[in-house]
Amino acid sequence: MSSRAVHTSQQAPLLFIVSAPSGTGKTSLCNEVLRRVPSLSFSISHTTRAARPGETPGSDYYFISQDEFQQHIAQQKMAEWTKIYGNCYGTAVDTIQRLFAGGADILFDIDERGARQLTEKYPDAATILILPPTLDELKKRPMERGTEDTESLSRRLKRAQNEIQTMAWYRYVVINDRFEDAVTALTSIIIAERCKKTHAIIDTVLNNGKQREK
Ligand code: 5GP
Repeated sequence: MSSRAVHTSQQAPLLFIVSAPSGTGKTSLCNEVLRRVPSLSFSISHTTRAARPGETPGSDYYFISQDEFQQHIAQQKMAEWTKIYGNCYGTAVDTIQRLFAGGADILFDIDERGARQLTEKYPDAATILILPPTLDELKKRPMERGTEDTESLSRRLKRAQNEIQTMAWYRYVVINDRFEDAVTALTSIIIAERCKKTHAIIDTVLNNGKQREK
């Protein structure tokens, strides 16, 4: 895909915050979109949970200890963070700064509480909620994955139900029924956000590709 228009290359990176209840297939969806959409980087979170089979440290997550995470919070090194079933998850300020310096747009896979914290700092961030076609669908995938016992699965389902209700404020919704359709929808949101009219874009065009001196 070569849809990254010339006009966006000199703008500040756009932020895409993707959240979903567990079992929605969000990780596969995000990975596919990251593979297809140029100039889009994934924000790698820090977490205190243990790595699952197949996860790569420094690629899926930065896996750190509770002590390290608490130190990061105390030293205000976290742009946002949350606690889910005793495990901490968060986005480091450093991670965001590095991504901003890289210039590509940024995709965050974080929960609703993290999304609230980030949108306070970055109100223009596009918030995207991924939903299954029905609540019942949420049971299937973790069971197929076989990584969870019944108790933790039912806790997740209860949380998912509450979470969906609290995520009503998100700007976009993508229903992950057919995977390919969901990839197209998420990709289209990213492209539409990139095409949003801003004075900076128009100025850049009028200035033959250069940003005007302030
Ligand atoms: P999992 O343990 O299944 O990888 O992730 C559990 C939840 O943590 C998911 O909803 C995911 O979006 C969320 N999460 C992952 N990283 C972060 C983060 O950096 N900040 C916040 N707030 N949530 C995160």
